[in-house]
Amino acid sequence: MDTYIRVDLSLDFGSLNYTEVHQLLEQPKKVVITTHKSPDGDAIGSSLALNFVLNKLGHQSVVIVPDRFPAFLNWLEGADEILIYDESKMNCISAIEAADIAFSLDYNRLERVADLGEHLKESSAVKLMIDHHIDPDDSFDHILSNTGASSTAELVHEFISDLGWETKIGVAEAECLYAGIMTDTGSFRFSSTSSKTHRVVAHLMDIGLEPWKVHQAIFDTNSYDRLKLSGYALSEKLEFIPGIRCSIITLSAEEKNRFNYQKGDTEGLVNYGLSIAGSDVAVFLSEENGMVKFSFRSKGEINVNDIAREHFSGGGHRNAAGGKFDGSLKDAEMKLKEVLHAKFG
Ligand code: 5GP
Ligand code: MN
Repeated sequence: MDTYIRVDLSLDFGSLNYTEVHQLLEQPKKVVITTHKSPDGDAIGSSLALNFVLNKLGHQSVVIVPDRFPAFLNWLEGADEILIYDESKMNCISAIEAADIAFSLDYNRLERVADLGEHLKESSAVKLMIDHHIDPDDSFDHILSNTGASSTAELVHEFISDLGWETKIGVAEAECLYAGIMTDTGSFRFSSTSSKTHRVVAHLMDIGLEPWKVHQAIFDTNSYDRLKLSGYALSEKLEFIPGIRCSIITLSAEEKNRFNYQKGDTEGLVNYGLSIAGSDVAVFLSEENGMVKFSFRSKGEINVNDIAREHFSGGGHRNAAGGKFDGSLKDAEMKLKEVLHAKFG
């Protein structure tokens, strides 16, 4: 197994064995690109961009996701051709079984793709992972992993460029990559935003990308219900605990349904808690399918990846992580408060 891991903050450190990857993709191949459960802008944007480029190069490539992605990403070109495992299992399974190559984007552990993970494990496809999360598992043959990268989309841009396929990036690909970079950096404000991130965007703009269009399509397409749900969450459900510098928002399934909840409607909500002066950690708990999903955010050196991993079967990045809890929303909140008080009290 050839595994070349880039885990240094320096973007020039180490390298994937591009000669081997090049050889792998010399002849037309059947390719599947999978990304993580509850796909976000980076997951979808990076996957679609790579998918376009591989198809342009003559491969037969398709994007597969475990479950539906938020509607604010529907406008991306190619989004309507994404195979959703929850909705068409057989198509997804046959594509994986037939694949010569399987890319894993924006995740680094097979459990992040739920049942798809089992099919990938059984598949004889060569497995390539491109990702920026901490602690990859050993399910992959080739790894491009850089935890210092702003987003998987930035890494996909690097991957495409390093393989000499830069000219295959057109406006549609640029929009997908930009959507990934912009959403994963919180519109270029998180500490993972580097000068390279801006150089990549400059390159995308040179190709013809108009960033304002992407911002408008993603941020100015709220439903009335979504805004009312945010308002409700902030006025009725936001709790700030100054003693431990933490803020918490909880939403039950019933509360979300009151506002006709659609996937993606609570995306970004957790950041409001973090925006309070004196709040170093923000957590959002959402009751979903009989369990509770956690979103953690933190400022500076405070590591919420550790909390998510140790206590809530999750992970992510130092300042943005997710996890889950099997049980009621009340119990999840109680456990969270115990953990936070023990750590920050
Ligand atoms: P979000 O709070 O936006 O859902 O996720 C924040 C970050 O944590 C993302 O990078 C996401 O990939 C990661 N993440 C979210 N949920 C989980 C989870 O259940 N397990 C792991 N390992 N990572 C997660
Ligand atoms: Mn990402």
